[in-house]
Amino acid sequence: MKDTLQPYLIDSEPYYRATGLEVDLFESAYARRLPIILKGPTGCGKTRFLEHMAWRLRKPLVTVACNEDLSASDLVGRYLLDPSGTVWHDGPLTLAVRHGAICYLDEVVEARADTTVVIHPLADDRRILPIDRRAERVRAHRDFQLVMSYNPGYQRASKDLKISTRQRFVSLDFHYPEATMEAEIVMRESGIDRETAQKLVGIAQQSRALRGHGVDEGISTRMVVRAAMLIADGMAAHAACRIAMTRPVSDDAEVLSALDGFVDAFFGP
Ligand code: ADP
Repeated sequence: MKDTLQPYLIDSEPYYRATGLEVDLFESAYARRLPIILKGPTGCGKTRFLEHMAWRLRKPLVTVACNEDLSASDLVGRYLLDPSGTVWHDGPLTLAVRHGAICYLDEVVEARADTTVVIHPLADDRRILPIDRRAERVRAHRDFQLVMSYNPGYQRASKDLKISTRQRFVSLDFHYPEATMEAEIVMRESGIDRETAQKLVGIAQQSRALRGHGVDEGISTRMVVRAAMLIADGMAAHAACRIAMTRPVSDDAEVLSALDGFVDAFFGP
């Protein structure tokens, strides 16, 4: 996924196939500038959806891929040394707040706990970003919106979203698309024929039934698209499924043998 630390305007429509009412729901929430959580498994279309919405609303987007080292100052900014002394540099969140962009914090539970200090006052009625180091409180631009993604399947007790954070956001649920729609997305994204797309989706759907039996989430739409691209470029189906779908999902010999069985069932042994 794209990590863009500067706001950017998306100039051509990102393809997004709606699976429900999410486009209307997002627009209504945006009209009130309510912060939004996109909830769902990895690789199911959350980021693509947000790129599509930023394009629809003609708003710049800033994306931050959160990880366990990401702190409040990574979001807000810091003083850096340069030849003329120390100079303040706005972080991605501050840029979005000042310039009226949509700020997307991807996998926000991964970030350090101190980030809630800046997220909370922005995500409630105050819409204010406190920058302690500059003794500054920035009032958010009227177009600013905060969006975070969250994968409930991955969370451990120690890394769950706090209730006080959750209740500041409206929440949109995402799931892998149903089979016919997923095959259409795969065809559109990779240029592959319908029959092959349906087979790849069939394998992915079976893998998702193994959730909780040695597999965290199964083969995602993203992985299916990648396998399809490789096949479209001429790679043999078994090899593409192996490197883009089955091997990335698990290291467990029994699980892999079950997944290979699904591939054989659709593409022949
Ligand atoms: P997430 O942010 O949920 O991890 P992404 O938005 O990056 O997942 O989706 C991964 C890929 O799956 C996208 O790049 C796109 O190719 C495809 N995809 C998934 N769902 C959709 C959808 N509804 N419409 C269009 N493409 C989709």
